[in-house]
Amino acid sequence: MRLGRIGGVVTAIALAATMTACGSSQKTVDAEASSGAADGNAGALVGVTMPTKSSERWIHDGDNVKKQLEALGYQVDLQYAENDIPTQANQIENQITKGAKLLIVASIDGTALTSQLQQAADNSIPVIAYDRLIRNSPNVDYYATFDNFKVGVQQATSLLQGLGVDKGEKGPFNVELFGGSPDDNNATFFWNGAMSILQPKIDDGTLVVKSGQTDFKTAAILRWDPATAQRRMEDILTKTYTGDTKVDGVLSPYDGLSIGILSALKSSGYGTSGQPYPVVTGQDAELASVKSIIADEQYSTIFKDTRKLAETTVKMADAVLKGQKPEVNNEKDYDNGNKVVPSYLLDPVIVDKTNYEEIIIGGDYYTEDQLK
Ligand code: BGC
Repeated sequence: MRLGRIGGVVTAIALAATMTACGSSQKTVDAEASSGAADGNAGALVGVTMPTKSSERWIHDGDNVKKQLEALGYQVDLQYAENDIPTQANQIENQITKGAKLLIVASIDGTALTSQLQQAADNSIPVIAYDRLIRNSPNVDYYATFDNFKVGVQQATSLLQGLGVDKGEKGPFNVELFGGSPDDNNATFFWNGAMSILQPKIDDGTLVVKSGQTDFKTAAILRWDPATAQRRMEDILTKTYTGDTKVDGVLSPYDGLSIGILSALKSSGYGTSGQPYPVVTGQDAELASVKSIIADEQYSTIFKDTRKLAETTVKMADAVLKGQKPEVNNEKDYDNGNKVVPSYLLDPVIVDKTNYEEIIIGGDYYTEDQLK
């Protein structure tokens, strides 16, 4: 009787909370859609800013967004900032000056664009955060991305698969953990997703992080820099993996870092028949990493189809520019510190040697020839 009552009260509170949450975010979307309403945006200029050309995925993203916007008749100013924050801030200011009617921004530091976005808002220019959430600003209208928590879950799941834990292997396995750039909102989502799977296995002794470096701050690699990851791996190998102790697995959140990590491992004698590489994860299905998976070096990657992300974002942009309400599928998970940003999340996919042909070649992401 008592339990039933408590249950009822809890359910009622939860329901009320959900309704309030839905109600308020729905209002935000409607208000934004109507305030963004503008006729005469046909052929308008859209400013697109991407973080860097040093990673292939952003080149694909930029190309795809530009191509698809142009196909709808818009003009596009596409800029890359080589991971330099002031450069990106300047590019956005320039786009506002040039008369852009909408901005699509893949930020370098998600907290560093507040004043540029205020300037955009002052000029009634709507902003779509692309892949990475822009934080601490009320002036982010929409967000298009992949399910970033799920990316982390998949990276950890694949790590456990590579170690055979899913088939009952008990270990203990020595693993090391890498995180992404601390100024990129996605990095914490990837980490939290991965740790939701790995922490119970660390707690029950299946996995051992020999270096003892288990917190995000220590594991994080600023600006996703492969050379920094390589140095950190070298350091861990020298300090922790002496004598016969070997590393069995490495959680890596991005293909570029995986390449750095594998190179440190190689210098330390891994990658031979006597001492194969540990299970190393990744993300983005970059060409070099898919090749590395085929060559039995990197174990897996997470495929995020940049064509689909571009398509989702361009649809959003087109709707906003036409004064319509874009489709979103998540209005609760992406709080940017100022507001919950209405988001559209796409599904990531684990790719390893068993399915790259089906997913990557079959999906026309790369041709068989490119992977030779
Ligand atoms: C993206 C990842 C990418 C990483 C490094 C993240 O924000 O979501 O796909 O691997 O940045 O570029």
